[in-house]
Amino acid sequence: MKRRDAVKNLSLVPIAGSLMCRPESLALKANDEKPTSKIDYFEELGITRVINANVTMTFLSGSLMLPEVLDAINSTAHDFANMHELQDKVGAKIAEMLKCEAAMVTSGAACAMVLATAACITGDDLEKTKLLPNLPGPRPEVIMQKSHRYVFDQAITTTGAKIIEVDDADEMEKAINENTVMALFFNAAEKSTITHEEFVARAKKKNVPSFIDAAADVPPVENLFKFQKMGFDLVTFSGGKMIRGPQSAGLLFGRKDLIEAAKLNHSPHEAPIGRPMKVNKEEIFGMYAALKAYLGRDHKKEWQEWLSRVESIKSVVESVAGVTGETYINPGPANAFPSLHVSWNESKLKANPKEIYEALKNGTPSIVTNVAKKDGKQLLNVGVVLLREEQVSIVAERLKQILQDHLS
Ligand SMILES: *Cc1c(COP(=O)(O)O)cnc(C)c1O
Repeated sequence: MKRRDAVKNLSLVPIAGSLMCRPESLALKANDEKPTSKIDYFEELGITRVINANVTMTFLSGSLMLPEVLDAINSTAHDFANMHELQDKVGAKIAEMLKCEAAMVTSGAACAMVLATAACITGDDLEKTKLLPNLPGPRPEVIMQKSHRYVFDQAITTTGAKIIEVDDADEMEKAINENTVMALFFNAAEKSTITHEEFVARAKKKNVPSFIDAAADVPPVENLFKFQKMGFDLVTFSGGKMIRGPQSAGLLFGRKDLIEAAKLNHSPHEAPIGRPMKVNKEEIFGMYAALKAYLGRDHKKEWQEWLSRVESIKSVVESVAGVTGETYINPGPANAFPSLHVSWNESKLKANPKEIYEALKNGTPSIVTNVAKKDGKQLLNVGVVLLREEQVSIVAERLKQILQDHLS
């Protein structure tokens, strides 16, 4: 089998599936397999290995990279490349894959937010790119719905811009003035007082670029195409969440002139605001490989696999008296996938969900779940989408054992 074909075949292998037919040339092993390095760096440095039975979280190192991504990183690490050419060509390819004008790889969605805002402020003026965040004159303004304010909008104000809050579409239109540079939509906001369509329409009417942050909003895969179709000028997704690219990578895509301006505000240029947000060559190749694998995956099959993982953990923990499991499908837009809700009769099993959560986390191996709420009652939520295949039964057995230990 030629190597190219081997890599192509790999993208057809479900993430949890067997990789037995994997060629020897792919030296780096992914999460689906045992590591091959002679040095155990976790051991050498005393770092605790964590089983993530929750969702992608930056503090838990995001996602685990796919075999294709690790191969892209390893196989491109041995030659130099011109970073402008790499970013341009990978961007053009990603734009073709996502059916939009232009794209680039950033160091995460938060970086994409800084670069998008900077691009809307500076355009192609190189002098201005050197002055952010201290551009002379009135502060640039970014429009947001009041109900969309969130922790990540810090990335917007990093550029020197200030956020102008609005409550409805008419207010939005009225708030737009000569200092307005962009309008930001937070896709996973709990409440929107302006719909996506209305937001885009008003921004277009006033000739202000619209930007949507959909960082954690795949699956479904369709979301990668949805917002450019709606008319948003710029879109970002994290690379290191469910697309399973490098955790330090992300996608920014949309209007060509704005992507070109965003590149001027990024490394490898020496002085713009994005210089400290460098993406390395291997991450750019890795992000491309991750997206290609993600788009090529059998998403229905993967969903079924997640459901069967939930079922298998449920059947093990339900063997403990008084314990019930229930399949939960998060409605999204962020983290829209199945997990297992576990609850129990606390008069029989003397522990609350937080205590079971702690016991799992502090045990060996360390398993991180989360405590969720349903109808005002706390329960334990067990995530399955980030588990390696052999970890499904480990999680089930550990949880069963801990629950059993608390039976009175
Ligand atoms: C995760 C996330 C970000 C930040 O993304 P990174 O890729 O970690 O930089 C921004 N916005 C939202 C809504 C997110 O969920």
